[in-house]
Amino acid sequence: MNKKKIDNTCNQASQPLLSTHDALEFLLNASIVNTHTHTVALDDALRQILAHDIRANINVPEFDNSAMDGYAIALKPEQISVPGILNFKITDRIQAGSTGNTLAPGCAARIFTGAPIPQGANTVIMQEVCEVSKEGDYIETWQPLSLDENIRPLGNDIQSGAVILNKGRQLKAQDIALAASIGVKELEVFKPLKVGLFFTGDELINPGETLKKGEIFNSNRYALVALLTQLNCDIVNLGNIKDNFSATLDALSTLADDCDLIITTGGVSVGEEDHVKPAVEKLGKLSLWRIKMKPGKPLAFGHIGKSAFIGLPGNPVSAMVTFFLFAQPFIKKMQGISNYKNQPIPVQANFDWLRPRPRREFVRVRLDQTTTPASASLYPKQGSDVLSSIVWADGLLEIPENSTFAQGEILNYYPLT
Ligand code: AMP
Ligand code: MG
Repeated sequence: MNKKKIDNTCNQASQPLLSTHDALEFLLNASIVNTHTHTVALDDALRQILAHDIRANINVPEFDNSAMDGYAIALKPEQISVPGILNFKITDRIQAGSTGNTLAPGCAARIFTGAPIPQGANTVIMQEVCEVSKEGDYIETWQPLSLDENIRPLGNDIQSGAVILNKGRQLKAQDIALAASIGVKELEVFKPLKVGLFFTGDELINPGETLKKGEIFNSNRYALVALLTQLNCDIVNLGNIKDNFSATLDALSTLADDCDLIITTGGVSVGEEDHVKPAVEKLGKLSLWRIKMKPGKPLAFGHIGKSAFIGLPGNPVSAMVTFFLFAQPFIKKMQGISNYKNQPIPVQANFDWLRPRPRREFVRVRLDQTTTPASASLYPKQGSDVLSSIVWADGLLEIPENSTFAQGEILNYYPLT
């Protein structure tokens, strides 16, 4: 941690006021990469994170082969690129999976896509530009022929010895296919992180229960389970926890020994009903920050035993936005993902911003890709309780603090997908 970076100029309570940049730096410095690995079959490797570089020990393809259905031809030197009609005697037939015989100069072999180029052949002519004689023993072509046409050479895709996939890569379908193409059947990946969850608030009930006055359905629970599932984490979910010190303490103690990370929502302000701070402090260490951002000012970070702790704000949009900006890169780094930071895309704002605001805003926007550059439109209600805003939006637009601008301003856009 770079202590100099923390701005303590606001003297309210003991909560440092941090920029989003500093809060993220602090978190990322504290994110310790998981070292536990295991081996998974290719069918179970989707979204797993590679624990080692994968190096090819074969060439792909292992042999020169035909890129077309057509005829492999042993062109004589005097037949190369000459205009006019040429004839070749068909002396062989080679399907994918079989090997042909050596082709004599001036002869052709019927060949199919993926079949090995026979010895002696030096080009492949596609079937569309030649005609087969009535007897089926000759082809005639009117197209000048050059060497090496329609041949996929040995090592065209992968050369033996090359690193084909890097450590820290989160595996996509095409990565798994590439590993299969060199004959690898299983991969060593980092073990999933175990993330413990609970949600503070006496007002919370679960979908399926009947609302009484003053109660709300716990939506954060479902957001976080879905977000963590997307990140491939194992989840231990304690559900709703009453707003009192001992219930909070019990929940934390239950998770602390077992989980790599504990995430909570709510209870991280400094009201009398906010018990997360004292409970984490009792069991471990905690920093409670007010981040100069909107939505989602309060954020707690700490450790209890070997578990890291992140306390997100209770408001549903704040919880999701702070998860996306802070918890997600923290988790990705911990999981061993090399590319763990959110990558912004420059887009133009489709609106004016006339009043400077003291906090950096991450507004919910929808992108119009038909303009150049793409332009972001604002959802009309930006309250941190308006979950519809983040459903309507496809991303967040970052508006620096104390700024004003006119439509067309180029800003950072973070896709939410
Ligand atoms: P808190 O951070 O606990 O002060 O909560 C801030 C706001 O978020 C309050 O209006 C809470 O009712 C609401 N809230 C807290 N937790 C949840 C949750 N799990 N789901 C939906 N809303 C919540
Ligand atoms: Mg609360």
